[in-house]
Amino acid sequence: MTRSYTIRTYGCQMNVHDSERMAGLLEAAGYERSASDEADVVVFNTCAVRENADNRLYGNLGHLRPVKAARPGMQIAVGGCLAQKDRDTIVRKAPWVDVVFGTHNVHALPVLLERARHNQAAQVEIAESLEVFPSTLPARRESAYAGWVSISVGCNNTCTFCIVPSLRGKEKDRRPGDVLAEVQALAADGVLEVTLLGQNVNSYGVEFGDRGAFAKLLRACGDVEGLERVRFTSPHPRDFTSDVIAAMAETPNVCPQLHMPLQSGSDDVLRRMRRSYRSSRFLGILDEVRASMPDAAISTDIIVGFPGETEEDFQATLDVVEKARFAQAFTFQYSPRPGTPAASLPDQLPKAVVQERYERLVALQEEISWQQNRALEGRVVEVLVSTGEGRKDGATHRMSGRARDGRLVHFTPGDLAIRPGDIVEVTVGYGAPHHLVADGPVRSHRRTRAGDVHESGTRPGGAATGLGLPGFGAPPAQPAAAAPACGVQA
Ligand code: SF4
Repeated sequence: MTRSYTIRTYGCQMNVHDSERMAGLLEAAGYERSASDEADVVVFNTCAVRENADNRLYGNLGHLRPVKAARPGMQIAVGGCLAQKDRDTIVRKAPWVDVVFGTHNVHALPVLLERARHNQAAQVEIAESLEVFPSTLPARRESAYAGWVSISVGCNNTCTFCIVPSLRGKEKDRRPGDVLAEVQALAADGVLEVTLLGQNVNSYGVEFGDRGAFAKLLRACGDVEGLERVRFTSPHPRDFTSDVIAAMAETPNVCPQLHMPLQSGSDDVLRRMRRSYRSSRFLGILDEVRASMPDAAISTDIIVGFPGETEEDFQATLDVVEKARFAQAFTFQYSPRPGTPAASLPDQLPKAVVQERYERLVALQEEISWQQNRALEGRVVEVLVSTGEGRKDGATHRMSGRARDGRLVHFTPGDLAIRPGDIVEVTVGYGAPHHLVADGPVRSHRRTRAGDVHESGTRPGGAATGLGLPGFGAPPAQPAAAAPACGVQA
């Protein structure tokens, strides 16, 4: 009898995409996706970044214990960053777990499940370095119209608040030809938008000796037939170069959107975070981006209350936020993460101080975001219609999607048979702090192949790309294949 599976994903886009690979692997091994949360195999793809991630994991595992006892043959697997970090502690604390696997050996999941069943014993297998680049594994894509494409995994930086380098290892770059082949395969299946993924996309190519590789990759994406939108995350201010800005501005399908993590506006704090740019450099990049792309929506990540942050340091962050005019900021209250250098720094701040600063920052950014969104009232925006982005769509009879600059747009479809994956043009009627509303008539509606695929219930990219080939490292000698969150969110 076919066994069913379900995957519960926590954390960043890397994990979301890794889960697509896990699903692809399980389906290739004969498992069937479960329509409900209950299944013969429950996989937790964990995150080590969020506060109390381990407590939450053990709570969830505890809830599953009686479910497993009542369901003979059920298996539980735990993967992702927390599994990489805690290893056999997981089966010690939750001995009813069957499989623990890490971030470097996602491919081993079906074999470990099989072995655990055969041996009637928990299997813990954590690799210290990447064995198979996840992108060479089969995928079960979640979306018919937008796809993630990994260009690298790991990170060579040593930001003191971040657990990524110790859990995901040194940066491994995928060959440009393999990346481009995956992008082309997705576009051929009707996908309209790809997001290139890496902890630091701007250092892409350093491993194989081509510092200009990321800009070339963006330009090559511009030649992919049918591909309408290219995004990427995350860049790093230290490595962000003018050739990338030029490639963004000159490649029509690269979206006018940039997520540039600031983390702090204080140079002292940046130094202690071991982030090697300074606030003047950060603001200089933003000026350069806006000179080439005046309408670019720039978002950021900011950590409030890093150890030793003074009121003066915090004011420096507020000053940069005032000047930067971010469209959106993901703001985080610092809390120590075991295993990171910053966790043992002196001068950890009291929670009340962090909370008060956080509220001031959020209030300032909300006002800036709102001003910018209000300035878009009356403008026509192109929206790629999506699913699951408008929580109130059912009640408001609206649909939702993203504008080219990444802004969330809720619009009224009226009588038109618009599907997720289609493209519409609408006029912004109201700019709220976190979204745009367009309740007037839809100006244009383009039915797309992505919409057809979505409607049919199938999904693109089931096949592995580059299976059996070394998926990363130096590209071959011939021309580099037509040359195409972080950190706290990671
Ligand atoms: S915050 Fe980003 S750049 Fe810094 S170490 Fe973590 S993943 Fe690397």
